[in-house]
Amino acid sequence: MPGVADAQRIPAPFKLASRAFRKRSSVIRIGDVAIGGDSVVLMAGPCTIESEEQLVRTAEAVASAGARVLRGGAFKPRTSPYSFQGLGEEGLKLIRRVADAYGLLVISEVMDRSQIAMMVPYVDIFQVGARNMQNFTLLRDLGKVERAVMVKRGLSATVDESLMSAEYVMSGGNEQVMVCERGVRGYETYTRNTLDLNAVAVAKALSHLPVIADPSHAVGVRDKIVPLARASIAAGADGLLLEVHHDPERAICDGPQSLFPEQFAALAEQLRLIASAVGRGL
Ligand code: PEP
Ligand code: MN
Repeated sequence: MPGVADAQRIPAPFKLASRAFRKRSSVIRIGDVAIGGDSVVLMAGPCTIESEEQLVRTAEAVASAGARVLRGGAFKPRTSPYSFQGLGEEGLKLIRRVADAYGLLVISEVMDRSQIAMMVPYVDIFQVGARNMQNFTLLRDLGKVERAVMVKRGLSATVDESLMSAEYVMSGGNEQVMVCERGVRGYETYTRNTLDLNAVAVAKALSHLPVIADPSHAVGVRDKIVPLARASIAAGADGLLLEVHHDPERAICDGPQSLFPEQFAALAEQLRLIASAVGRGL
C-alpha cells in the first residue's frame, strides 16, 4: 500500500502482548513505582484485609523492608462458601488509608465486573485471581479502566492461555497489564501447588509484559516460600507477590503460608543480592 514502509507478521495469537509486537520490555509506571523496569518490585501484605491494626502493623513492616505495594483482599474467592469472604468496601477503605500512610500502592482482587467502578478509587492495581483468569467479561471490562491489572495464571492454564487473558485486557485499550505465576496443580501433596518457574522464563521470552511470581500461593508452606522467592528473582521475575502477616498464627486466611515480618525483611536483604547478580535493583 502507498505510504507503508514495512509490515511485520505477528504469528502469536496474543498480538498486543507479544514480543513480536514490542521488542522492549514494558514498564508500568504508577506514581514513583516502575514495574518491569530496572528494579524488581515487592508486593506484600496479608491474604485478606482483617482490621486496621493488622494492616498498619503489616504495612509498617513490609514498607520498611522495601516493599512498594501493599496487598490485601477485600473480596476473597474461597473454596467454601462458609469461609470468610472478605470485608468488601470497608476493607478497601482501610487498605487505601494505610497504604497512603506508608507510601505504598494498593493491589486487591476484583472478583466480578460489578465491583470494578466501586473499587477504582481504592486500588492502584486490580488483581484477577487464578480462578477468574478466563472470566472474559471481567477481563474485557478491565480493558476500559485507567488502572493497572495483574492477571494470575489459572491452576491448569498454559502460558499461552494466560497471555491470551492479558490480551483480552489489552485489546480493550488498557496497556498496563502484568501476568503472575502463582503455581499450577500437580500431584505433589506436600506443597499446595507447584511453582512453575518455567512459565516465568517462557512468559518473559514470549511477551514484553512484566511477569510477577507468587510463591506464597504456589508453595503454601511458610518455610519453603523464602527459597522459592529467591529462585523467582533469579529466574527473571519482575516482582514478587508475597503474603506477610504481623501475626500469622491468628490470620483469618492463609496463615500457614504467611511470612513473619522478620522473615520478609531477611528475605528482602537476600533478594537485593540476587537482583543485583541478575543485573537489577530492588
Ligand atoms: C490471592 O492472591 O489472595 C489469591 C486468592 O490468589 P490466587 O487467585 O492465585 O489463588
Ligand atoms: Mn491467600
